[in-house]
Amino acid sequence: MTNNNMIFIANWKMHGNLKDISKVNLVLKFINQKKFKKNKVIYCPPYTLLNTFNHKFKNTKILIGAQNCHDHADYGPFTGSISTKLIRNSGAKFVILGHSENRTEGETDHIINKKITSALNNNLKVIFCVGESLREKRKKITSNVLRRQISKGLNKIKSFKNIIIAYEPVWSIGTGIVPKQYEIEKNIQTIKKTISRLKKKSNTKILYGGSVNPNNASEISKIRELDGFLIGGASLNPKKFIDIIKKSSN
Ligand code: PEP
Repeated sequence: MTNNNMIFIANWKMHGNLKDISKVNLVLKFINQKKFKKNKVIYCPPYTLLNTFNHKFKNTKILIGAQNCHDHADYGPFTGSISTKLIRNSGAKFVILGHSENRTEGETDHIINKKITSALNNNLKVIFCVGESLREKRKKITSNVLRRQISKGLNKIKSFKNIIIAYEPVWSIGTGIVPKQYEIEKNIQTIKKTISRLKKKSNTKILYGGSVNPNNASEISKIRELDGFLIGGASLNPKKFIDIIKKSSN
């Protein structure tokens, strides 16, 4: 791939506080350079920072997303929940859904489908995570898992225009272990085929996520039909994040 038209998503998980805005400023300065201008950078900090980040980075190249949402209501008696309506009101334009860290907490394909529906209804763009566990990989059922997650997660969704898919093998997230190039390529093809079976004309972007760092970014970014990265750990360090962008764009 190696181009200047990639999407880089920073998933900060349960990290970050107000003073970390300076880290994002460094990244903004970097992507404002002409050579990197076409790349898209989306920061997904914890809910507590959404408002501030949206205010601070309004009208800049940094876009903001949330990391999860309530599954159906816009408002109501759901203590501790954040709806897609509230996320949109914060100014955020994206939301990560179906992350394996939430799936392992009991989030089913059906719940993810409800969240995706709610997000799209409230004009959020969805970063939809799919990927197999180590047990599923060992049982050689990765393709079936991907097909199931996508068809159930996107059930009755009319348009995929506002959906980005992140292929994230669960066994690679936060472990430092990255699949072989051919494995990523094969699984991306499965995702593409599944998507086009559901919607012929969709041009859905597909990202890879799982232990991406400055040492492996260049290699992975060469994979055909890959549109970018979803980055957890390394996105907390602006130097590493910038390095990933640099190495994927050369
Ligand atoms: C993630 O949280 O989606 C992720 C890919 O994390 P990491 O880059 O730390 O593996």
